[in-house]
Amino acid sequence: MTFDKLEIIAPILKAIEAKGYTHPTPIQEKSIPILLRKRDLLGCAQTGTGKTAAFAIPILQHIYNDATPEKGRRKIKALVVTPTRELAIQIKDNFSEYGKYTGIVNTVIFGGVKQGAQTQALNRGVDVLIATPGRLLDLIGQGYISLRDIKYFVLDEADQMLDMGFIHDIRRIIDMLPKKRQSLFFSATMPSSIVSLAGKILGNPDKVTIKPEQTTAEKVGQSLYYVSKKAKPKLLVFLLKTEDTDSTLVFTRTKHGADKVVKGLQKAGIQAEAIHGNKSQNARQLALNNFKNGSTKVLVATDIAARGIDVSELSLVVNYDLPNIPETYVHRIGRTGRASASGNAISFCDTDEKPYLKDIQKLIKQDIEVVKEHPFLLDGVDSLVAEEEKPQRQRQRGRSSKSSKPSNSSRSSNSSRTSTSSTSSTSSKSSKSGSNDWRRGNSTSRRRPQKKSE
Ligand code: AMP
Repeated sequence: MTFDKLEIIAPILKAIEAKGYTHPTPIQEKSIPILLRKRDLLGCAQTGTGKTAAFAIPILQHIYNDATPEKGRRKIKALVVTPTRELAIQIKDNFSEYGKYTGIVNTVIFGGVKQGAQTQALNRGVDVLIATPGRLLDLIGQGYISLRDIKYFVLDEADQMLDMGFIHDIRRIIDMLPKKRQSLFFSATMPSSIVSLAGKILGNPDKVTIKPEQTTAEKVGQSLYYVSKKAKPKLLVFLLKTEDTDSTLVFTRTKHGADKVVKGLQKAGIQAEAIHGNKSQNARQLALNNFKNGSTKVLVATDIAARGIDVSELSLVVNYDLPNIPETYVHRIGRTGRASASGNAISFCDTDEKPYLKDIQKLIKQDIEVVKEHPFLLDGVDSLVAEEEKPQRQRQRGRSSKSSKPSNSSRSSNSSRTSTSSTSSTSSKSSKSGSNDWRRGNSTSRRRPQKKSE
């Protein structure tokens, strides 16, 4: 399925293309047709699934198609309410990008900052307003905003809204909306409180459920290298030189980061190319073709650029930077281990990235095995590993004595740096002789016990 099959109008298609999207994500594929028919939608999906485009594209299309000359300043036709400032900004950016050839104007309002710039934007007139609940009610109260002309309403991350205590604000906002409107309601979970809130907002909605991709994480061998930001380039070169991989996809968080990694690799004599949003479509295609036909062994990519990359013989994924959205980790490692192949993924983690690691492990319900002996081990890694292992130890104490847990002696050996890459604590082979040890699939990762609620 490609975007042009979804009956999206040309100015929006052009913007999607410019973003480098080739294929709709599952939630987009399911929701866009429903929303273009002006049906209400109850979406069970979380951030990272592409849900923003799933609702932004149809709303932009409706506003574009509805357009009649307006007297005076623009009226607000679409309202998106979301719990946090970060999400609000992200959604605003998405509307700006997908709508850049439509002439549709949007703005974002949120609390915790002075209101001057926000009220000025509102006074100039907007078609789409993205807001957090408190500031929205505040500016409605001050007379800067009227919800009278809203035709499209989105309540985003509803469960988070309730967790944050916004229920009364939400109710007040809903009471102010015109009865005749299209409503969209998104939540990652659907407890009864959410279902009852959805019932108040939606008519007879179509439902779309997208589960986070989890299964791939179970097929792929994963390992974790604690390393400082500064030493990451050296560790990457070391791994690519010592391990025998045919094709490696390296992920960085930023475009600039991708270029830097490529430069470092080239300096070390490793042929590598980057693909990201700042490269022309032609340059990206060329790099991808080189990677697919094997003339480039290492491709360095940002997440957006890597979407839709389908390389069948990918042997290794390297998370040079850990993603801040845990689902992205699953997307990334899902690039290897396709079909029946057992792929491998290694992740670099510096101290700042520990919270991301925590979120990832929670999502995949696995503890990624830490590679405790490598030449670029992060200072103070012992305490990080100990912290990492604490819950494991507690769990293991409660279970049987049969354990794959590293012995105390192997743990204490971490404090001394070593020039071998005996990667798994359960392995004593050196990198060259046992070059595939870290790629030994699932034995390197331990399943987390399921939470009761899951
Ligand atoms: P969201 O769940 O809306 O926060 O989107 C997650 C990420 O996926 C964002 O960085 C989007 O820019 C990106 N994205 C959304 N749709 C697509 C698509 N069809 N192809 C590639 N990337 C996408």
